[in-house]
Amino acid sequence: MKSVLITGAAGFLGSHLCDKFIDNGYKVIGMDNLITGDLKNIEHLFKNEYFDFYHHDVTKFVHVPGKVDYILHFASPASPIDYLKIPIQTLKVGSLGTHNLLGLAKEKKARILIASTSEVYGDPLVHPQSEEYYGNVNTIGPRGVYDEAKRFQESITMAYHRFHGLETRIVRIFNTYGPRMRLNDGRVIPAFMGQALRGEDLTVFGDGSQTRSFCYVDDQVDGIYKLLLSDYVLPVNIGNPHEISILDFAKEIIKLTGTDQKIVYKPLPKDDPLQRQPDITKAKEILGWEPKVSRAEGMKHTYEYFQSLTEEELFRSEHKDFSKHNRL
Ligand code: UDP
Repeated sequence: MKSVLITGAAGFLGSHLCDKFIDNGYKVIGMDNLITGDLKNIEHLFKNEYFDFYHHDVTKFVHVPGKVDYILHFASPASPIDYLKIPIQTLKVGSLGTHNLLGLAKEKKARILIASTSEVYGDPLVHPQSEEYYGNVNTIGPRGVYDEAKRFQESITMAYHRFHGLETRIVRIFNTYGPRMRLNDGRVIPAFMGQALRGEDLTVFGDGSQTRSFCYVDDQVDGIYKLLLSDYVLPVNIGNPHEISILDFAKEIIKLTGTDQKIVYKPLPKDDPLQRQPDITKAKEILGWEPKVSRAEGMKHTYEYFQSLTEEELFRSEHKDFSKHNRL
């Protein structure tokens, strides 16, 4: 039986990856420090004999007993609100955390897949973004802590591959959504869904002309799985190329939820990318992958998930309090 270590296992993508690997007959070791992750996302796995969980911060030395065949490094705050609140941890998990996991991969002779992001393209001047584009990132802006940590992560991963011959894979993840997104993480989909369910107006930042392309989580996880098992070393974009402006998206949510709330406009956050759409030619050619779930279908599942939350969860304080972690 192959074993896989998944960091960020209690997070949105990490928890879906745990499910995917369990369903495909792997032994899964989940690891998370639970700053942004939530055990609720993986509690259904605790009774499974092929699932183990370590409450650990990967910026500290990582030890896992026994054999490890694959490592997926998905630990990181991943929403603008989170990494603005815990900037140092965001930098550390992408740099020190990645270094520790590359070291572990070398020790265990494991193949390692690193979760990178469309944020490495920054506010892109090329559209759509292909893997060959080097990006337009403001290193010292508020998003720089995430963007540069992820860019460093790609560099050190390629260095381990070239210098130590480590088997590495890099996925550049574009906006992904689905059940288990944290309601209060500030991202646009949980924000709009929470607002619709609480009977609040929908907050569109800027004039809403900025675009995003949203990928359903099942498609994303399938792409990551295929990339891990492929023999392609350079970064691969995984995302859904179907692009929409945030204003049109807000209108779609109003229709889907049947809310009679209005759209209200708030200032556009600094360095908010104006457009984002993945060029997925590589994923199609190399992995034979492309997204299958339409936004209408994916959003329906996602709304059902948010509807299933308790009143307490729905009205819990707007953003998570990270104050105790800022002393770390
Ligand atoms: N956004 C918005 N209203 C919100 C939250 C976000 O209009 O309540 C916008 C945000 O400015 C950005 C887009 O939606 O242009 C996607 O934001 P998100 O935080 O989900 O992801 P990212 O900016 O990292 O793509």
